[in-house]
Amino acid sequence: MKKESIYGLTFEQLTDWLTERGQKKFRAQQVWDWLYRKRVKAFSDMVNIKKDCVLLLEENFVIQTLELHSKQESKDGTMKFLFKLDDGNLIETVLMRFDYGSSVCVTTQVGCNIGCSFCASGLLSKSRDLTSGEIVEQVMNVQHNMDSVGKEERVSHIVVMGIGEPFDNFVNLMDFISVVNSDRGLGIGARHITVSTSGIVKKIYEFADAGIQVNLAVSLHAPNNELRTKIMKVNRGQPIEKVMEAVDYYLEKTNRRITFEYILLDGVNDSAETAHELVELIKDKKRLSYVNLIPYNPVDEYIQYKQSKKGSILTFYDILMKNGIQCGVRHEQGSDIDAACGQLRSKQMKKDREQAKV
Ligand code: SAH
Ligand code: SF4
Repeated sequence: MKKESIYGLTFEQLTDWLTERGQKKFRAQQVWDWLYRKRVKAFSDMVNIKKDCVLLLEENFVIQTLELHSKQESKDGTMKFLFKLDDGNLIETVLMRFDYGSSVCVTTQVGCNIGCSFCASGLLSKSRDLTSGEIVEQVMNVQHNMDSVGKEERVSHIVVMGIGEPFDNFVNLMDFISVVNSDRGLGIGARHITVSTSGIVKKIYEFADAGIQVNLAVSLHAPNNELRTKIMKVNRGQPIEKVMEAVDYYLEKTNRRITFEYILLDGVNDSAETAHELVELIKDKKRLSYVNLIPYNPVDEYIQYKQSKKGSILTFYDILMKNGIQCGVRHEQGSDIDAACGQLRSKQMKKDREQAKV
């Protein structure tokens, strides 16, 4: 039987698992101290834990299932990690360094079934969901990497914006959040965690009902159904008005600010007229919303899409600002190392396929 990653268990799940097997309740906190504070990489290093408990853990769990395939570091400090899962699949994780801290962007699925027409992750359909353990392990691997340099750097923020649609892997996503957020372990504040969705309506309601302070970002990319469906086929089944109803519910329930992500594609969704349409769509929520304008990171396979011109980006931004919509233009991180969502993975897979042909 394949052993599970210990990182996949929430604190409550680990406590139950241990006590059901005759172990004392406090063992769970000891194990978590070793995993998340002292950050050992083997159960045998957990020296204050009794032998029988260490053996029990070793027989049932593993600590590391991800293998580092390669890593790249950009001039601006951004690091991109390509990991091999135990079934051979590749996933990517990005570390971004800001003035306010170090943020890790995690992957939630192997590939993505949503298939947005601009996104490298959608080039291959989803082969499986990641387990909660595999998602936590990405953060831990990055943290271990920081630990090995010895500069006391800590992962302080998490964005769930890597490969995959997190709301299509909801249970594992929520367990992941519980693990990284818990004060008993890493203690990454809920307000420092952001989940991005392409707009899976039902799950926006569930997320709002979960009663957590985690930030939500919705990938909008267009202010009307015709354009949005052209860019994101998910809009056919989950049209803008339904997404907006769910967003209203989220805002009312949580009173938290929501982010709308908007990729600017040259000549597609970046005109002044489209900016005005966007203002009309969200002006009733301007107190509790923020628009993140994202310069498109070109993907080789999608020749139809180019990054918007600087002038169009500025005009678009100005129109939103003048109409009282809070917004910003996302600074490109690590553009010299293929840092856009799914690009490193898709390039590596292309290389592998080409090699296989030789
Ligand atoms: N599936 C989720 C989360 C992962 S994608 C979602 O779509 O929201 C995270 C963000 O990266 C999304 O807003 C997505 O639109 C954006 N993105 C994808 N490919 C991109 C590219 N080539 N350039 C810039 N942003 C991209
Ligand atoms: Fe999937 Fe998000 Fe990429 Fe769309 S943008 S294909 S939802 S990962």
